[in-house]
Amino acid sequence: MKFEPNKKNLNFSISRRSFLKKNLSFFTSLSIPIFIPTKFLSINKDKKNVTRVFDINGFKQVLLPKGHGQLITIDKEYKARYPSRDQNMQFMAFFNEKDCLYIQTKDTVGYITDWEITKEQKLKLNFFGPEPDIVVKKLPPDPLAPIEEYKKWALLQSWAKLKPSIIEKCNIIATASTPDINHLRKTQFNFIKKFIPPTACWITQWMKYPFNTMYPDFQPKQPELFKIFLAELHELNSIPLPYINGFLWDINCLNPKYDETKTIKNIDGSTAFYSEKKKYLKFACIGNSYWRNLIVELRNKLIDINGKLSKGVYYDMLTASSPVLCYSNSHDHIPGDPLCWQNGVKDILKKTKGVIMTEGNVEIYIDLVDVFLMHLYTNEDNLFPIWNKVYGSVARSAGWIVPEKSDFQEFLNIIRKAKKYGVIANGSPWMSQKIQEKLLHPDFANIWVEFEGYICNTK
Ligand SMILES: [Zn+2]
Repeated sequence: MKFEPNKKNLNFSISRRSFLKKNLSFFTSLSIPIFIPTKFLSINKDKKNVTRVFDINGFKQVLLPKGHGQLITIDKEYKARYPSRDQNMQFMAFFNEKDCLYIQTKDTVGYITDWEITKEQKLKLNFFGPEPDIVVKKLPPDPLAPIEEYKKWALLQSWAKLKPSIIEKCNIIATASTPDINHLRKTQFNFIKKFIPPTACWITQWMKYPFNTMYPDFQPKQPELFKIFLAELHELNSIPLPYINGFLWDINCLNPKYDETKTIKNIDGSTAFYSEKKKYLKFACIGNSYWRNLIVELRNKLIDINGKLSKGVYYDMLTASSPVLCYSNSHDHIPGDPLCWQNGVKDILKKTKGVIMTEGNVEIYIDLVDVFLMHLYTNEDNLFPIWNKVYGSVARSAGWIVPEKSDFQEFLNIIRKAKKYGVIANGSPWMSQKIQEKLLHPDFANIWVEFEGYICNTK
């Protein structure tokens, strides 16, 4: 699920550009890290927001730590908030034929920072927490150079630890996206049984209400069948990953009844909503313990017919969305705390039992997540494997978009590419249940040899 931050929350402070403008050539002409002295900072009167501006005029391309990573032509403005899927690491690198301008922050905690490329060809950084050290450096014009540079710092950080997980051994993460559990049982088992266990099954449509409605009332549509389905997956040594949304609260929800006082409050007192199109979905405040306890409780209610807790869970949006500051003064966090969203996410992850798959990928959550679902943008042609090259040794990624109409060769190319990007479980889940059903057709018989962990003799 994609989220665009509420623009009201993206207020930038006025910066002293003149100093940096005059001195940028000095900064960028050196090839050693530069730590700009505090006295040159542009600081707002309230000292909450610090903005830095860097001249990127003359650079045509930028390497963005967005999803798996992208290398794009700079032809429009761009803004992304760290830590989120769209700015999941703390650098950008700008290229022309001769040079690479590498700009990195060294925030060892993970405060909110907005990264903005402006139409005036500037990079603006707006820090909501304490301003970290900043590195501005010239590198060779090779996209791998900034990646190697960042990796040296990144792998020393507290989050850069691989979480031991059974999902590591999974040969497939099947997509179960039909609300009809009986249909799921038929099709999923045929598919899953083709692979040596363990496997996993991402269950996105098990809920009583249609997708994107009545959250967080996560009751099964077919309660008994759902529990049987979970038990059958457990018997097959397959990890069920049922969908729970980590943030959204439908104003029509009765169970628990929507409570305006527990949502994120913007600085003007209004409630933060998810998107212009879906204003009925509000952001619950994850910095407030009420919501965190609720999410963990919902996860603990995922129990199979034998009373066994589901071996896993999928949290939508949890490590994808851009943090939104909450200014409520009735929550158990400081109003405007630039860390409470991130600490809320971490708290849920720490308290969640079993295997966790989350939407999106952000460096600060690496040690708490079993596998990041990173399908978004994988069908775009400007992908560059930044994430895998920096964090491939400590983080697991899953998911790749496979169009339902893909023929044999297309499908083959897609999963080979996914594997090159470090995606586990044969590049799955493929975001489509239909493509799995198609693979059982004789036209795709020869593709099975491509899969690791395929049980050759299974009919
Ligand atoms: Zn709050």
